[in-house]
Amino acid sequence: MTSSDYGLPDQPDAMERLCASLCNHANDAVVLTDSDRRILWCNRAFEELTGYTLAELAGRDKDALYDAAGETALTGPRYGGPSGSGLFPLRLRRKDGASIATEMATWPWAVPDGRLAGHFAICRDTTEEDRQRLARDSFVAILTDQRLDERTKIEAILALACDYFKMPVALVCALEGQTMSVVHAKSSLMTVSPGTRFDLGQSICSTTLAVDGPHNFANTVEIGENPTFLSYGLRSYIGKKLSVGGHTFGTLSLCSPLDRPHFTRQDSAMITLLASGVEQLLATEMRIQALESAATQDWLTGASTSRQFRQHLEDTFAQVRRNAATASLILFDVDHFKSINDQFGHDMGDRALTEIACRARRVIGPNRKLYRVGGEEFAVILAGSGADSAAIMAERLRKKVSEQQFNDDLPLITASFGVAELDEDLGSADAWLKCADISLYASKNNGRNRVTSNRSISGIDLPDEVSQALGPRQRPGSKRPLRV
Ligand code: GH3
Ligand code: MG
Ligand code: MG
Repeated sequence: MTSSDYGLPDQPDAMERLCASLCNHANDAVVLTDSDRRILWCNRAFEELTGYTLAELAGRDKDALYDAAGETALTGPRYGGPSGSGLFPLRLRRKDGASIATEMATWPWAVPDGRLAGHFAICRDTTEEDRQRLARDSFVAILTDQRLDERTKIEAILALACDYFKMPVALVCALEGQTMSVVHAKSSLMTVSPGTRFDLGQSICSTTLAVDGPHNFANTVEIGENPTFLSYGLRSYIGKKLSVGGHTFGTLSLCSPLDRPHFTRQDSAMITLLASGVEQLLATEMRIQALESAATQDWLTGASTSRQFRQHLEDTFAQVRRNAATASLILFDVDHFKSINDQFGHDMGDRALTEIACRARRVIGPNRKLYRVGGEEFAVILAGSGADSAAIMAERLRKKVSEQQFNDDLPLITASFGVAELDEDLGSADAWLKCADISLYASKNNGRNRVTSNRSISGIDLPDEVSQALGPRQRPGSKRPLRV
């Protein structure tokens, strides 16, 4: 095969002229070498790609342009052999020292006697393409990493986003009324952490939430007088609305104190991709939370479940015994609740239970848990409290529950309370619970709507299994059977 078999000139100068007339205005970089790989000619795009002029390159060994150090992972054989042609990834070293990833298509040209005359190569800068591919690969690796939980994966995506966009702040914010609340944050610039809140009206997120696609500002002129951005000294932004389960969740936002020339189509595609991953992870996180709270929270009243109660009672018992500390238990049961249901219907009964739980939570405060241990029976564990202060708390609860009814039709609803301090002679969490139940029973027995503590209890005859559980605490008295 000779060059003329391919319709190419046989002589280098004719080949150069052909290349010049064909390729000087092409966007792709084109270079022509002789059989020793010395550069004969290149077009303007090749000059721009390498930073060298044709005059500087002519006669130079083309291999001298290869960045051998960066070549290892991507590069196969540089040419397909004397008669070969092919498409190869190659790293080039620019005149300014920068290493650039390229893809090079080479084609041999040969003189009439069949000897190789040189190569004709078209070279494309793939730096951006490779960057995109690496970011996408990392994104998939994060999403599919079985060892990471959802929170860690979202944090890894934020780190990837900071790296990809070269912006130091990445935030996932949830829309809560008129506030944007940070739920995940990665920031090497300003102090922003989960829980930080921004006023929606002052935040750039308001514009991001108003559009479905990605949204960006490349500089202060585009951003205008945004107060939140100004206060943090930020100048560029790219973000995307996040939707979970068909509802607006909030935003994924990247911010930087530097202007950018502009955001590209690829940048928009990347923020959309990353946002889709965050949406997927948030949805999983929310499903897990819903399952967890179904196991730990009563759906009607929001109180912790009886399962949680048993667990925490055992834990508190063990802790008190270990540390020679003290703890008390309050049990309360709504009085004559069956008649509320019978007279006003089950729905009204449900509403009354929800209201009672709400009032009780207000009394015990945010740091203590209210447990729903039965249909209309609740409990509070007071770690560190003796019977007296627990009785005071129980009295406050009693008063609050029996305050004016939320519905005018309803009669006053009251509850009876039993308090038990974890005395030394109570040998188990079960015995402690039974002791509180005995106190509660005493309240019921003595007219309801009252508090009885194990310090004041007397006059109750206990069935055998309770006597055994309580050991030496049992006290003789009334013959009424105990509700256990
Ligand atoms: P006492 O003062 O002796 O405790 O009388 P009481 O009527 O409250 O006690 P009883 O054990 O006879 O009845 C409890 C009632 O609570 C019966 C049951 O229908 C009702 N209840 C239990 N759970 C729920 C619930 O989730 N919703 C409603 N509406 N009622 C419930
Ligand atoms: Mg009751
Ligand atoms: Mg009951």
